[in-house]
Amino acid sequence: MRIVLLGAPGTGKGTQGEKLSAHFAIPTISTGDLLRQAVADQTALGVAAKTAMDAGQLVADDIVVGMIRERLAEPDTQNGFILDGFPRSNAQSETLDALLQDIGKPLHRVVHLDVPNSEIMDRLLARKRADDTEDTIRNRLSVYEAQTRPVVDYYRAAGKLAVVEGVGSIDEIYARILDALS
Ligand code: AMP
Repeated sequence: MRIVLLGAPGTGKGTQGEKLSAHFAIPTISTGDLLRQAVADQTALGVAAKTAMDAGQLVADDIVVGMIRERLAEPDTQNGFILDGFPRSNAQSETLDALLQDIGKPLHRVVHLDVPNSEIMDRLLARKRADDTEDTIRNRLSVYEAQTRPVVDYYRAAGKLAVVEGVGSIDEIYARILDALS
């Protein structure tokens, strides 16, 4: 099972990713988590990524793609994986597809968690992560619209997209996702 969870910040990708991960016994790979860890460890990559993250902008592709490439080479991805927060642009989607094509493991499904913007803002303001200030949230949502929204169309054209309404209880949304994957 090789899945991408796609959706704006605050649509529940992290929460649903954890549940899917336990259910299918495959890892969730979050570029946001990997980047936050690199920042906390003050690695060269973390230092290079921090300014963009604090501003709610996308971190440079070479940093993020390098991280994903290394992570996907680890043995625990053998039976599949769930990607959360990657790809975030059409360029990243093309890079990912080429990478997976090379190892003969194409994606099965891309699940788009669809949540209205007004609800996203409320959820993010309630979450209180370091980069969850109102200004940064606005930035991240506009970056999402400009750069990540096209990824939805990219995977629709590839015949891999499943759109799931991301409003309701965690369990309701989870059931919809399982349905979309079956
Ligand atoms: P997230 O936890 O997915 O919301 O990611 C937090 C921040 O990490 C984002 O606002 C970006 O600055 C950066 N980031 C995460 N994933 C990516 C990606 N695929 N490409 C570029 N930047 C990313």
